[in-house]
Amino acid sequence: MTDRPVGRIRFMDQQNVNLDGFAHEDADLGLVALRAPADPEPSLVVREGRVVEMDGRPAEDFDSLDLMIAGHGIDLSVAAEAMALDDVELARMFVDPSVPRHEIVRLVAGTTPAKLARVVALLRPAELTLAMTKLRARRTPSNQAHVTNRLDDPLLLAADAATAAAYGFREIETTVPVLADAPSNAVAVTVGAAVASAGVLVQCSVEEAMELEMGIRGLVSYAETVSLYGTESVFVDGDDTPYSKAILAAAYASRGVKMRVSSGAGAEVLMGGAERCSMLYLESRCVSLARAIGVQGVQNGGIDGASVASAVPRGVRELMAENLMVMARNLEACTGNDALMSESDVRRTARTLPILLAGSDYVCSGFGSIQRYDNMFGPSQWNAEDLDDWLALQRDWGVDGGLRTADPDDVGRLRREAAEACREVYQWLGLADFSDEHVDLAVDAAGSKDLGDPDPLVVLGAAQAIRGSGLGSLEVARALLETGYEDAAGRVLDMLAARVQGDHLQTAAIFDESMAVLSLVTDPNDYAGPGTGYEPDEQRQAQIDAIRQARGVEDLRADQSAWAGDWLRPTGAASVGTDPREVVIGLSPGVGRTVWRTLSGLPVLEVLRELLAGLEEEGCRARVVRVNATLDLGMVGLTAARLAGSGIGIGLQGKGTALIHRRDLPPLANLELYSMAPVITPTLYRLLGTNAGRHAKGATPVPARNPYTDEAIEARYHTSVIALVALERACVDRALGNEDLEVSL
Ligand code: CA
Repeated sequence: MTDRPVGRIRFMDQQNVNLDGFAHEDADLGLVALRAPADPEPSLVVREGRVVEMDGRPAEDFDSLDLMIAGHGIDLSVAAEAMALDDVELARMFVDPSVPRHEIVRLVAGTTPAKLARVVALLRPAELTLAMTKLRARRTPSNQAHVTNRLDDPLLLAADAATAAAYGFREIETTVPVLADAPSNAVAVTVGAAVASAGVLVQCSVEEAMELEMGIRGLVSYAETVSLYGTESVFVDGDDTPYSKAILAAAYASRGVKMRVSSGAGAEVLMGGAERCSMLYLESRCVSLARAIGVQGVQNGGIDGASVASAVPRGVRELMAENLMVMARNLEACTGNDALMSESDVRRTARTLPILLAGSDYVCSGFGSIQRYDNMFGPSQWNAEDLDDWLALQRDWGVDGGLRTADPDDVGRLRREAAEACREVYQWLGLADFSDEHVDLAVDAAGSKDLGDPDPLVVLGAAQAIRGSGLGSLEVARALLETGYEDAAGRVLDMLAARVQGDHLQTAAIFDESMAVLSLVTDPNDYAGPGTGYEPDEQRQAQIDAIRQARGVEDLRADQSAWAGDWLRPTGAASVGTDPREVVIGLSPGVGRTVWRTLSGLPVLEVLRELLAGLEEEGCRARVVRVNATLDLGMVGLTAARLAGSGIGIGLQGKGTALIHRRDLPPLANLELYSMAPVITPTLYRLLGTNAGRHAKGATPVPARNPYTDEAIEARYHTSVIALVALERACVDRALGNEDLEVSL
């Protein structure tokens, strides 16, 4: 006996989900999702227009978060009404379609952090989904991309930003592995995005002072990585206070830079400062604080701590509840799905799906539109590896996850234009010179590994020149104009003009591709049950439906006819044979007319060659007959058997399924069946011929087995099967009878 577990368990241990960490709940460490014993009881006492007690704490004991929230984050005119509501009653209003969004927003404005956390903790997963459908601010969902690479290569950044815009991302966030490269990255992404689309907002997430400087210079158009924490101790550890964050928020707003804060479960736990409270309660404090300091929105739902939350029971539910609190406080919600929370495709999809279904201002607060290894935030929950999955999920459910399929030719064209424009801008501004070869590599690259080994000092030099010269986006627009990129220049200028107007500082604002602002004000969410709220319009639905992999009968017909040949020639009506060594191979009606290649990719002629060779090895005589009356494989095989002198027949469908039949068996019985057409090899077809020959001679052959496979054969081939069957069906002709065929091998 060993103490090693049995093979079943060892096998399960090897699955991806077991790379994830799972923790026991531990309230002392704050490792608890929805509610901890130390979470305060909700309370609010107001005297002479001032909060004198909040969530069990008297004003004289308020920390800086309490002071800010009590002073600026609660609408006291509705507080008495809201705080008096039973938790369940308020929770029900979140999901009741007859209670409009604005009523929830009005009431929640009067709730304390502990009260709101209590209420959203009552919502079950399906209720969270429904509540999110109703409570997000903007009607039209959207999505945000990460565009980064390990080399900070400007041409690749520009090409990838253009690609992200082509796929529909309306915000692009970049960052750097090397801090000093930041201004160069901001310029490159701005240029790339402007080549592909008007109105894409660009962010460069770096240390706060440099980020603000870039914002003021117009090199970026939004910011979101201003971090809030749920306890004062963690704030202070980070050399910050709610006041410093409020000043930063005001600085951004004053320059027309869209701005939201970042928070989310797990941060306080990771820094050992959770003060024995639940993740949801601490995040409720962050969201209340965001409201109080006057920012536009919140990026939460775990973010960097998403895997901390998901390590505990109900953690993923907590992540979604965080987002819902943001929406209920009438802020823009950037709903996590940002840092990768699991190595398991099943878990990470399950974590994201309810939010994708509900729709959100930004479903992902950082979809890695580049490959995992190039994501300088660390791998995202979704990356370039998953882009096609995302598009398929949107189509499966008929929902708008903010993305669309970009035409492959457009992607190629836009990548070239973006890389070339970026090179021209860098050259015109005297930042750097790039070779034609570098442009070509960046255009074609699937990631920075495809770039070879460019000189890192070039980027650093460009970044220093940008910073040193005080260059801003006006100069970038000028460079684009002077080098012949008028549209892109206009788009960069339009973004500067928008910052003067400031309409995009409204909650949940994005620009559509004609620079119209979609926000809480211009595009408010009006969901009120079935038949209301956002539905993709016809054009948008067509974009969602038209994934590039979709195929129809015409595609298959074209594919098949590329393999057409005249190797089958009818020689007359088939009669019953008399030679006891004769085996008949019956073909379905479309073979050699509309169908030329099996699902495994083998030409049918090749299959026939193997079957005939197998029969010949056994010393049998073969005859090939087309059975025109049916495409049912059993009937094709039985018909062949009844025509054969030996009473043994082979049935072969154009898609490659095959069987051996005997004339005295019922149609649905057979001697051997190869049902898995896509995985049948030439060797197996030869064996089928051999075995048919042995049956004809009265021997007992060893039956062939279908090969091992774990492919989703049906998922992969069913659409082709449907099209192949349609092609065969069109050839069925009962009047034509069975025809002898001459095969030219
Ligand atoms: Ca983000």
